[in-house]
Amino acid sequence: MIIVGAGPAGIFSALELTAKNNLNVLVIDRGEEIDRRKCPSSRGFECHHCEPCSILSGWGGAGAFSDGKLTLSTEVGGWLNQYVTEKELGDLVKYVDDIYLKFGASEQVYGGDSDEVDEIERQAAAAGLRLIRQVVRHMGTEKCADTLRMMRKELNDKITFMPKTDVKGIIIENHTLKGVETSNGEKIPK
Ligand SMILES: Cc1cc2nc3c(=O)[nH]c(=O)nc-3n(C[C@H](O)[C@H](O)[C@H](O)COP(=O)(O)OP(=O)(O)OC[C@H]3O[C@@H](n4cnc5c(N)ncnc54)[C@H](O)[C@@H]3O)c2cc1C
Repeated sequence: MIIVGAGPAGIFSALELTAKNNLNVLVIDRGEEIDRRKCPSSRGFECHHCEPCSILSGWGGAGAFSDGKLTLSTEVGGWLNQYVTEKELGDLVKYVDDIYLKFGASEQVYGGDSDEVDEIERQAAAAGLRLIRQVVRHMGTEKCADTLRMMRKELNDKITFMPKTDVKGIIIENHTLKGVETSNGEKIPK
């Protein structure tokens, strides 16, 4: 089984696929291992327009070095509510949040019910706006990367990770998916 991309979508797919099954999972990313992702601009240089960009590519994906705000709301951030009920979506948000917690995300959440939020809601209403209340887990830049490192560690023996490999396309023969082809012409069977 091949997962292309080691961003949150790829990592969570790998965690799910390996949790209960003894599957042979290969994760491919055009970027680097998390601790080899180095951006020249973080050392004071201007953007070198690296290809692939270390900020956006590699283990952890685009937000690996962000301050990691997890919005624990069913009302913002996507359109899954078109496919599942509000209750199912709430359960899914909790399921994913619990995985982040298991891998070391901070317990601290912001924006629940409080006088401060009541006051912001009142001011918003006075301006004709509706405040959408939402709880946000704030991991912080360090914790965000650490959480991804822990997931990498957990998956180390369960998957094969192939960094620095750009996938050009999928291989289909007789209407059947056979694998992927990399930019340097290597064919990897599924
Ligand atoms: C600066 C910044 C801050 C952010 N902060 C937050 C935040 O606080 N909270 C929040 O919820 N979201 C945040 N986000 C958004 C969040 O990072 C994305 O929603 C999330 O990364 C999407 O996950 P993904 O796995 O779908 O894609 P990505 O994270 O983009 O991962 C895709 C991966 O696939 C790889 N890839 C793509 N094409 C190929 C190919 N052809 N061959 C091989 N590999 C390939 C890429 O290298 C990449 O590593 C932030 C994003 C950025 C850029």
